[in-house]
Formats: sequence, C-alpha cells, structure tokens
Amino acid sequence: MTLKGHCLCRAVAFEMTGKHNWVGHCHCDSCRRNAGAALVTFVARPNGQWRWTGTEPAQYASSPGQTRYFCAICGSSVAYASERYADEIHFHAVLLEDPAAVTPRHVFHSHERLPSMPQDMPGCKHR
Ligand SMILES: [Zn+2]
Ligand SMILES: [Zn+2]
Repeated sequence: MTLKGHCLCRAVAFEMTGKHNWVGHCHCDSCRRNAGAALVTFVARPNGQWRWTGTEPAQYASSPGQTRYFCAICGSSVAYASERYADEIHFHAVLLEDPAAVTPRHVFHSHERLPSMPQDMPGCKHR
C-alpha cells in the first residue's frame, strides 16, 4: 500500500511503499517537546521503502544518534531516525494525507505518559 504525506506547508513530502513495521504512540518527553504535542504517533517503515518527494527536511540531533527531521519552513515534525533502529525511519503519522489509513497497535514509553492522556489506548499493546 502506497501512503503519501506532507508537512503543514507541503514543502516536505514523502511516499511510502510496501508494509510498515509497526504503528504506535509514543509518550516520551523528547517526542512531546519535538512535536509540541502531548502524544506522538509514528509509522515505522523499512529503509528502501520510502522516499522524499518534496523538499528534503532539515535535521536536528536530539541526542547522540537520534535524528529528528522537520520542515525548515513551517516547522512540522516530520520523522525520527535512530542508530538503535538503523533499518527503519519513523514518520509522524498525522502527516499522512489520510492519517486514519494506519491503526496504532503499540504504545511506547507509557511511564512518561502525561496524567491528562488516557492510560489505555484501545487495541494497543504497551511496551
Ligand atoms: Zn512545511
Ligand atoms: Zn518518543
């Protein structure tokens, strides 16, 4: 299934083919600050099955080996890559043309969850 996505201003765009590795919510403090949101949802795609189709995003190393991609124009958080998961990239799912096209099944870093966020994400496995 081919999925397309873009940032708020549409300068940065990407396309994914094949299947995702997983779709999940992250409660961690770094993702929250990076996105300016209480919860972040990612789609993990194997490298070789996605490509930039617009302007390539800017990069920021949020800690050693951790790369955050963002649009240099509008500031949208676009993706995350880590040396720990060297074979895949994690796109921010809300940037998809149809964010409802993917269903989160995993929850990461639940211990950092803000009290205002639901403890149980229906259909998700906590890690
Ligand atoms: Zn943009
Ligand atoms: Zn996170």
